[in-house]
Amino acid sequence: MRESAGSTLIRGIGELLTCSGSGPDKLGLRRDAAVVVEAGRIAWVGTSTSAPDADRSVDLGGRAVLPGFVDSHSHLVFAGDRSREFAARMAGERYDGGGIGVSVAATRQASDDELRALVAARVAEMRAQGTTTVEIKGGYGLTVEDEARALRIAAEFTTETTFLGAHVVPAEYSGDRAAYVDLVTGPMLAAAAPHARWVDVFCEPHSPHAFTEEEARAVLVAGELAGLGLRVHGNQLGPGPGVQLAVELGAASVDHCTYLSDADIEALASSAGTTVATLLPGVEFSTRSPYPDARRLLDAGVSVALATDCNPGTCYSSSMPFVIALAVREMGLTPGEAVYAATAGSALSLRRSDVGRIEVGARADLTVLEAPSHLHLAYRAGVPIARALDLPD
Ligand SMILES: [Zn+2]
Repeated sequence: MRESAGSTLIRGIGELLTCSGSGPDKLGLRRDAAVVVEAGRIAWVGTSTSAPDADRSVDLGGRAVLPGFVDSHSHLVFAGDRSREFAARMAGERYDGGGIGVSVAATRQASDDELRALVAARVAEMRAQGTTTVEIKGGYGLTVEDEARALRIAAEFTTETTFLGAHVVPAEYSGDRAAYVDLVTGPMLAAAAPHARWVDVFCEPHSPHAFTEEEARAVLVAGELAGLGLRVHGNQLGPGPGVQLAVELGAASVDHCTYLSDADIEALASSAGTTVATLLPGVEFSTRSPYPDARRLLDAGVSVALATDCNPGTCYSSSMPFVIALAVREMGLTPGEAVYAATAGSALSLRRSDVGRIEVGARADLTVLEAPSHLHLAYRAGVPIARALDLPD
């Protein structure tokens, strides 16, 4: 977002979703709306007829406007190509988390400039589809130097950077997992922490490559001691301890949540939004797996977020509109619930109140649709109708 030298009135908004409303759906839907933006922040929100004067104005001709999407889970720092693995999986092979090693090898070989260019292209691709905030994890280096490098590069694009040395146990440590956990919680964490806001762990006893509850706990506790916030990949491939561990340690988010027990849902609900359940239905789509039971989470009062998990193995889609369409079509969310989860919900999972909503003081991160209503996001699946709104200087 460029800083604006003056104020800009954005009018002709046919439908505005603020995602900071006071009604039961919290969407704050307004028709014939206008927004004033100044110095990169929202300065005023109201109806077109009562809009104040501004230094310049932009007319959106009846299009719908929503908060820019907040993609709170992505793995953008990687090199290499795994499209063949996807094709093989579509032909019937099962995913067990093992293909990450292919990306690790390619990422270690890439130069800083190559990685930087790859991340830049992916962030631009996201913005072109309406995403204005992105969280970026490391996790394809798995050495002290490579994880620090991944986060240093990620930090050039976002403040939401996540240390994921505990993505998988790399092949060279398969005979001595304890030594790898010691590396992650010791020198690798020390090198990565200056460039990271969060620490994350792939807690998945169903994958021989991922981490057990005990190992995950060690990683999270060490990360917290280093000043990082906590995130967890949990309950993706089967029932497991990830959700309970995340809630117990006060993690901001537990992501995937595909296999949940009643006790898991109760724990998430009783955390009252401290631990958000982040759903990544692009992964279920791309691995042809059962979708999480999102309705059960929402009906229990759990705070739910949507994100892409954009990564080379299990979901190489950077598209939040695609995720919204899946949430509506496959998980039974209403279009409004899906938009809320992809904006204010995912902002909560990053503990941010300045993004994911349109209200005075929030960042001027707006997404505009080539459509009169947010209903078109799922209705027109696969059509590029969403883009981040570029404001004049
Ligand atoms: Zn992930």
